[in-house]
Amino acid sequence: KQSRLDAVISLAKRRGFVFPSGDIYGGTRSAWDYGPLGAELKENIKRQWWDHFVRGRADMVGLDSSVILPTRVWEASGHVATFTDPLVESLHTHKRYRADHLIEAYTAKHGHPPVNGLADVNDPETGEPGAWTEPQQFSGLMKTYLGPVDNEAGLHYLRPETAQGIFINFAHVVQAARRRPPFGIGQIGKAFRNEITPGNFIFRTREFEQMEIEYFVRPEDADAAFRQWVEDAWAWFLDLGLHEENLRRYDVPEDDRAHYSAGTIDVEYRFGFEGNPWGELMGIANRTDYDLRSHTEASGEDLSYFDQRSGERYIPYVIEPSFGLTRSLMAFLVDAYDEEEVPNAKGGTDRRTVLHLDPRLAPVKVAVLPLSRNERLSPMARELADRLRRHWNVQFDDAGAIGRRYRRQDEIGTPFAITVDFDSLDDHAVTVRERDSMQQQRIPLDEVEGQLAQHLIG
Ligand code: ATP
Repeated sequence: KQSRLDAVISLAKRRGFVFPSGDIYGGTRSAWDYGPLGAELKENIKRQWWDHFVRGRADMVGLDSSVILPTRVWEASGHVATFTDPLVESLHTHKRYRADHLIEAYTAKHGHPPVNGLADVNDPETGEPGAWTEPQQFSGLMKTYLGPVDNEAGLHYLRPETAQGIFINFAHVVQAARRRPPFGIGQIGKAFRNEITPGNFIFRTREFEQMEIEYFVRPEDADAAFRQWVEDAWAWFLDLGLHEENLRRYDVPEDDRAHYSAGTIDVEYRFGFEGNPWGELMGIANRTDYDLRSHTEASGEDLSYFDQRSGERYIPYVIEPSFGLTRSLMAFLVDAYDEEEVPNAKGGTDRRTVLHLDPRLAPVKVAVLPLSRNERLSPMARELADRLRRHWNVQFDDAGAIGRRYRRQDEIGTPFAITVDFDSLDDHAVTVRERDSMQQQRIPLDEVEGQLAQHLIG
């Protein structure tokens, strides 16, 4: 039987949320493209995030920095030296794996880490007792060459996180936006990592999107701000509909933290992977003054903050809530997915697939469905659809039986479907069906916009 996660992935491809990239050339198996519905869903998540965390807060501003930064940025940040993963090769299949992932998978399966390290870990492909090469450090940075010659002078890195673009603009923002700690800078954008084992659908890709906040505080306020950001990030996911039982926090032990972190809490989501169903959705880290200090030393520009009120000069600490946009999209899809038995018109039951997406996230907000393809109903329905399209993403569908059309909308999470029928021609009213309850309500045509607006905030 196909797993719930497989069902979601298959729906995502079939209905145009996510396509395998390069499919007509056999696919890459590691990159994905966002189709018409996926592009809408992704935009809606970004917009919710930005409205909530950036525009919605007096202590936040936004930024949009470059993907390719001077190489010195990545030297100063420590990425060139330490953004590496231990890699081993199977002596059976010559496939390469991240040693830490093999250990993690073993620990999840057996409930304890392997006593003899990798020697206890079987080859994932052959199942034979593992025989591995010595781990070698492998850089996760994605390289490119700028200018006419591919040499060291032209070597640049694509950013593996959006954060550094924020740190190097810290002094500009403080000045231009007249900010003083505590305050934060938010940014949404692509990040690139040369992942050895991309996979699990869009969970781990080499090209992905992040939504990051760098929140600058006085050093003595860092712990409290850290705890508060864990709560705020958690609450955002719940507010947008994730079920709390599918979320958990993981306090990352010192050994496993990134080089800059004095404390990290990962928010994990129950994606439903085989083996260990849980995966990191986002992380909140206390980056201390590591980044601003490193860039001060490397650039010679003083990135400390002078507090005129107290007369103190200090390097702010940074609390970083780092959200994966594409992982969030996957979590919202998995969480919203449901297969239900519902009563049908004949007194029996039908099975329906439905995405219970929050209306703010739903890619299509309203479907307009003339009861049948008819020269009198269709123009009226089209006119209504055009009117609603000024506010929302609307689908017009007049193909096939009405029940089938409802199912098609349920499957992509459309919160409202409006049916225009023959009575509409006389009473100038339409039937509005709500996705989750499937309740239908007769509403005068000229009240449709207002009624929908009440339920479709955002
Ligand atoms: P992992 O342990 O899964 O590789 P990480 O701990 O390296 O992740 P961070 O460096 O904390 O991840 O990155 C912050 C966030 O960016 C992650 O929580 C995740 O949501 C997202 N992210 C990181 N790497 C990827 C990737 N390869 N594909 C998609 N999203 C990613």
